[in-house]
Amino acid sequence: MTIGTEPHPLAPPLARAVVALQDVRKVYEQGEVVFEALRGVSLQIMAGEMVALMGPSGSGKTTLMQIIGLLDRPSAGNYLLGGRDVTTLSENERAEARNTEIGFVFQAFHLLPRLSLLENVEVPLTYAGVPPRERRERALQVLARVGLESKAGNLPSQISGGQKQRVAVARALAGSPRLLLADEPTGNLDTRTSEEVMALFSELHAEGTTVVIVTHEDDIGAYAERVIRVRDGLIERDLRQTPRLGGRA
Ligand code: ADP
Ligand code: MG
Repeated sequence: MTIGTEPHPLAPPLARAVVALQDVRKVYEQGEVVFEALRGVSLQIMAGEMVALMGPSGSGKTTLMQIIGLLDRPSAGNYLLGGRDVTTLSENERAEARNTEIGFVFQAFHLLPRLSLLENVEVPLTYAGVPPRERRERALQVLARVGLESKAGNLPSQISGGQKQRVAVARALAGSPRLLLADEPTGNLDTRTSEEVMALFSELHAEGTTVVIVTHEDDIGAYAERVIRVRDGLIERDLRQTPRLGGRA
């Protein structure tokens, strides 16, 4: 890629969005079978927004999130992350951008069972090359942010599901990402615990974090100020709403 002075096809204001997708398509090929999971998705997410990506199972939510999170590449279309064209990056550059710009939270927590909670939170900082002492300080700070500082030395097996997801949120926040992505973060949690975890996302959003949550549950989508509905690989609706407030209301 040559970096010149030519305006990018997605010139401002699109370039100011945290996420700007234009006509993104994703084709999966398995042997003879070709399936188009995303069929031309265009959307912008601005800094500080809290967005729910909703839609039925198989509609393309995870595919879309993996593209936004640089875990997968679009088959066609443009993607600017923080104004930078990320479709042409090498694997190493993508990994670097993922480590520094994006925090992930998954349904299944993905904590490493033999590491303490503190060490789990430190993992992405290790990959990002943060020196040990600073790593520890930052991990303690974010564990405190999610209310689990006192359990820093515990193992994942010693805490509840809701606490595990809070640790996963702390791990996602450790590198101060530009964007927090969560795929069905409450999918393994009971209602009350889901509400606690969503209240935490609401607080982070109130503090200025840009949050994108994938969910098929209306109760969870209700916490977002904007709901993007996906169906059969296309955006069906994109609506703003008054968000449900976190649990401390
Ligand atoms: P959702 O998260 O909304 O349930 P996904 O993005 O996981 O949807 O999947 C969208 C569609 O793409 C589904 O029909 C799914 O079967 C298909 N799909 C997802 N991943 C793959 C893959 N790696 N290979 C082939 N098809 C896939
Ligand atoms: Mg999914």
